[in-house]
Parts: sequence; C-alpha cells; structure tokens
Amino acid sequence: MDKNIKIAIIGAGPAGLSAGMYLEQKGYENYTILERNDHVGGKCHSPHYNGRRYEMGAIMGVPSYYAVHDVEEFCGITHDGPKLNRNYKDKHGKVIEPFNPKANILRAPHLLKMKNQMKKFAELLETKYKGYDVNGHRGVAQGRYDGYAVTPGREKVSGENPNLKDLALPFKEFCKLNGVDLVQEIWIGPFTSFGYGYFDEIPAAYVLKYLDFQTTMNFVNINLWTWKEGTQFIWESLNAKLKNHARLNSDITKVERKDGKVYITVNGTVEEYDKLIVTAPLQYFPDYADAREDEKDFFSKIDYERYDVLAVETKPEDHPEISYYVFDNMTPERVGHLMVYYRRWRDEVNQVITTYALRKHKDKPEIPYEQCKETVLCDLQDMGNPASAVVNEKSWYYFPHVFSKDYADGWYDKVEAMQGKYDTYYAGEVMSFGDMDETAEYSRELVDRFF
Ligand SMILES: Cc1cc2nc3c(=O)[nH]c(=O)nc-3n(C[C@H](O)[C@H](O)[C@H](O)COP(=O)(O)OP(=O)(O)OC[C@H]3O[C@@H](n4cnc5c(N)ncnc54)[C@H](O)[C@@H]3O)c2cc1C
Repeated sequence: MDKNIKIAIIGAGPAGLSAGMYLEQKGYENYTILERNDHVGGKCHSPHYNGRRYEMGAIMGVPSYYAVHDVEEFCGITHDGPKLNRNYKDKHGKVIEPFNPKANILRAPHLLKMKNQMKKFAELLETKYKGYDVNGHRGVAQGRYDGYAVTPGREKVSGENPNLKDLALPFKEFCKLNGVDLVQEIWIGPFTSFGYGYFDEIPAAYVLKYLDFQTTMNFVNINLWTWKEGTQFIWESLNAKLKNHARLNSDITKVERKDGKVYITVNGTVEEYDKLIVTAPLQYFPDYADAREDEKDFFSKIDYERYDVLAVETKPEDHPEISYYVFDNMTPERVGHLMVYYRRWRDEVNQVITTYALRKHKDKPEIPYEQCKETVLCDLQDMGNPASAVVNEKSWYYFPHVFSKDYADGWYDKVEAMQGKYDTYYAGEVMSFGDMDETAEYSRELVDRFF
C-alpha cells in the first residue's frame, strides 16, 4: 500500500492509539486519530484524588502483555504502580480462604480434585486445543487457528484443529465437556468479577483468549502490573509520543464511503481520507456512517456488558485494609451485587475505594443503574466497609461480544472477510477481547496484515 495514503482512525483508546503507533513504525505517517472525548485512553481512565490517580477503568496487566510492552518501550515508560494484593469474603462480609486447604480441612478433597483438573486442563489446552490462544478469532469456528503466538517473539502460527470449534460453547459447557468443571472456580475471579459476564453465557473462546493458561497463572500468583499514574498514563504517553496527536473533541456526524474515498464530517467540516480504521464500538457505527447491509447485519448481533464502577470515600476506621473479591456474588443469581472492591494504595487511607458490579445477564432483565448502585452500597456496608460518599461513578459500555450461536455460525470469519471491503477496517474490543493488550495486539496484527 502507498505509504502516503491518508488514514482516519476513530477512537483514541488503546486500539486507536496503538494502531497509530504501529502504522507510524511501518512508515505510514499520514494518519489522523479522531477522539470524541476531551482526553485519550478510552476505558483506561485514571482521575485524580488527593494528589494521586485512581482507576475508574482498566487497572492491571500481566507480563504477557506484549503489545502494551511495545507501547511502554516506544514511550520509555514502565509499569511502576502499587503492588496488587487481595483477599476473599463471602456475601456476609466474612473473610474466607477458599484456596487454602489448611483453613478449611473439609474443603481439602475438593481442592485436591480442583488441582488435578487444573493439571488436566493445562494439558488439554496444549494438545486438544492447540492454537486456542492466538489473538483474535479468525478461523476458530471452522476449526482453524491463524495469528500470532502469545510469546515475546509472537511467532506467526496457523493450522487446522477441528477441536477449536468447541470454543464457541459457553465456558461452563466447555468445561463440562472436558470434565474440568472445577477450573471455573479459578477462572471466575479475573473473568466475571472483572466484568466479562457469566460462564453460562460467554463463549469459551473469549474466556481463554484473554485468560490463556499463562495469564491465569499470573493472576493466581498475583504476578501483575500496575501503573503509578494509572493505565490512562500509558495512552497519554503514547499520544504525546506519536507524530500526530489525537484530535480531541472530534464530533463525527457522518461517514460516507464512495469512489474509493472516505469522507468524514468532523465538527461540521467534511474531511477526505483514503482508508478508515474504526476502533469505536462497531454496534454504533451505523448511527453515523453509511453502513452497508452486511455491516448493519453483523454489528447488530453484538451485545455488551453493563459494568458499573463507583469510587467511594470511607471514614478512616471503615477503610478496608486490602482489596476483596466477593465470590458468592459472581453467579448469575447474584447479578447486580458487589463482586470486587479495590484499595489501590497501601500507605494511605485518604483514598477512594472502587467497587465493581455487573447488572445484566443474557437471560434476565437488566437491573436499573440506580438499583444496582443502592445494592452495591448496601453490600459494602455488609462487608464492614461502608461508604461515606460517592465521589465518581460510571456505567461502562463494556466487553462487546457475540453469543455462542453467532460465534459458531462464523461471525468472526464473515466480519474478517469484510476487512478493507469499504476502505474500512474494524478493530477495537469486539474483534479480539475487551482488555488493553488484546485490543492493542489486534491493531498490531491489523496493520501487519493490511498496510
Ligand atoms: C472498569 C474497567 C476495568 C478494566 N480493567 C482492565 C484491566 O485491569 N486490564 C485490562 O487490560 N483492561 C481492562 N479493562 C478493559 C480495557 O480498558 C479496554 O478493553 C480497552 O480500553 C479497550 O480499548 P479500545 O481502544 O478498544 O476501546 P476504548 O478504550 O473503549 O476506547 C474507545 C475510544 O473511542 C472513542 N469513541 C467512541 N465512539 C466514538 C466516536 N463516535 N467518535 C470518536 N471517538 C469515539 C471513545 O471515547 C474512546 O476513547 C477495563 C475496563 C473497565 C471499564
């Protein structure tokens, strides 16, 4: 492709900014990143409180975040944040140790069984499900894998593996099929409480591409990265380093693609481009673009999670001494309850605590925002850490995905086949997974494949 083409990128979250970085590194310097907000970072959002930054969005990474590491290297920054630590409570606020056989001798046989299933699962993923962990979903529904391995060298791997079709099943069914039901107890913490939905509704492909075995072990061993200035700082640093900084407050009212050009109306002015990369939610693309029938059809199948975050103050005596997972509240029956709360700084009680809840399950009516908020505040009281004030709150459009039927019907292969068709490329969360690294990695691959 001609290196001088004009490329528009919609969205200055991890996907859009890293697309800019990878394009620039490949010699494409004529790109423009259009961002609706007055700041960059998207769901990596780190406001200030008492002289420090806290997290309303993304919090952590793991050592296998190779694309985020590319960004760190490009910007000369590192993951220098506070060490994460956590404990567990039941729904009544009692501290529990679910994984310690010594704490509850009656659970010891169960834990032993779980350990054996973990071993079996690790082997299955390496053998029966070879290729399960490459970035993106190309070919999976057809029993193929095609992408880059999750290794520092990110070698290109591809091959046939009909077993991969099983990944379209909800994770719960997938575990049952493989006789490893108990591993869900390990995966649920960094999956459901992190807002990615319930195991009876979400295809195993999403669960395992994000929580591949290596990543899951990093969570188990709390081998995690954070950033002192927040995850938003990663993307602010990248934006500052890019030759073309994102254009903030860009209100896009129209996208028209005709005669091999892309015309975008931004803040009332029509701009002409050769190619478009959309990293903003594809579900809403038809609201402002001349979406074709196939785009409308596929994008209408996308669903998303309603993931609510509160930042609360507590009285010093009510401040939790550590972050807590509330395991009982991670089941579909307890949708709308507090699943995790996060204390970021160890040396400070004058900080906000952030709380996390989901309020939608595919088969249940959506819980209204205010009701969920009330429930979470009551739960926090039950935990023994009542809030004295809510200082920030946000309901996120979170983890866009498709369900098992569409996944198995080849949604991804059909959308991948549309890449470039209307001088438009699709990136961002739904194309891979809703975390910083999968989205950045997908942008890397997109640039590699098409530019
Ligand atoms: C509470 C929470 C916790 C999380 N925890 C983690 C974590 O610990 N680790 C992790 O890796 N990830 C985490 N994530 C997920 C991670 O933040 C996202 O997956 C990642 O930010 C997605 O990047 P993206 O660029 O695809 O989308 P986004 O970050 O959503 O960015 C999209 C950008 O597009 C802009 N935009 C949207 N529509 C338009 C439009 N019409 N015109 C112009 N611009 C538009 C938006 O304003 C936004 O800036 C968390 C997210 C949340 C909310």
